Amino acid sequence: MNPSSFSPRPTERLRDDLLVWYKEVSRSLPWRINRTPYRVWVSEIMLQQTTVRAVLGYFERFLERFPDVDSLAEAPVEDVLKLWEGLGYYQRARNLHKAARIIASGGFPETVEGWMNLPGVGRSTAGAVCSIALGQETPILDANVRRVLGRLRGISPGDAVRESPDLWELSKAFVTEASDPGEVNQALMEIGAVVCLTRKPLCTVCPWSLDCASCGAPEEILNPPRKKKEKQIRIRTALIPSDESGYFLVQGRDRLLEGLWDVFSVSGPPGEGQMPFGKVLHEYSHFREEVFLVREERSLLEAALGETSSLWLAKGEESPVALTGVARKILRFRDSQKKRKKP
Ligand code: SF4
Repeated sequence: MNPSSFSPRPTERLRDDLLVWYKEVSRSLPWRINRTPYRVWVSEIMLQQTTVRAVLGYFERFLERFPDVDSLAEAPVEDVLKLWEGLGYYQRARNLHKAARIIASGGFPETVEGWMNLPGVGRSTAGAVCSIALGQETPILDANVRRVLGRLRGISPGDAVRESPDLWELSKAFVTEASDPGEVNQALMEIGAVVCLTRKPLCTVCPWSLDCASCGAPEEILNPPRKKKEKQIRIRTALIPSDESGYFLVQGRDRLLEGLWDVFSVSGPPGEGQMPFGKVLHEYSHFREEVFLVREERSLLEAALGETSSLWLAKGEESPVALTGVARKILRFRDSQKKRKKP
């Protein structure tokens, strides 16, 4: 990438081309219809760290159950977590619920700063809500938009693009004096999601191919190899009643799993004499978990649980509470085993 050899057209021209392209190819997404602050905010939180494809079904179910901020604020957080089950990064759901309670009593913020005062809302999310729902000229810079604009200007990936203040300026230039700043921001998100892909960007169909400092750049320049950090491995042993009648569920103990329910387990590998019948692996952003599955007498498990608050989930019963990813994997593992056993 050689930014000095490029003299791209003014940002307004790039914006015009972007909007023409967006009008032709934009996907019809439920949160693009009826752009209220509530709908846009919920969709933006759901889309953090997640793809549009993953969010689609969740958004509609969520809006059906919580059609407005009051219904969300009045619901117990457990109901919110249950609807969020499987979408991951549960802190987003807890923050959404906390923020809904603040909004229900004080009203929706009307500025980027006001939105940023709410739990779980950063500058880019605030910019997206203010532009899309309120028509304000507020810039965004989520990971996709940062990548696209960084490539457009030939800023090296990695720390340089993450820390470049110029990209906020550039994003701001795109929405300044735009007739619909929200649409410009959605177009920026869209080009990052469907054309300027992290790997193998589709430069030949990009509306900016003649202006972009990175057009056609080789993979090793766009995505220089990074040293992978070794993840810490945590090991525990899930205890399953040997009569196969169901599971004891307990609430997650650390902040990551707060409000979610997990299959009763103890930390560390199986003890002496405990023969695991399976193992479940689960990746978190900072560590990997290995969970051995062992059978144990139900009466012994009841004794081990003692005063610990627990729930009994009978075999075949739909869980009424939100389960951790590991718990869902354990239930699926058991189901697949039972199917395999059938003649
Ligand atoms: S030309 Fe290629 S690298 Fe540049 S913005 Fe378009 S897709 Fe991305």
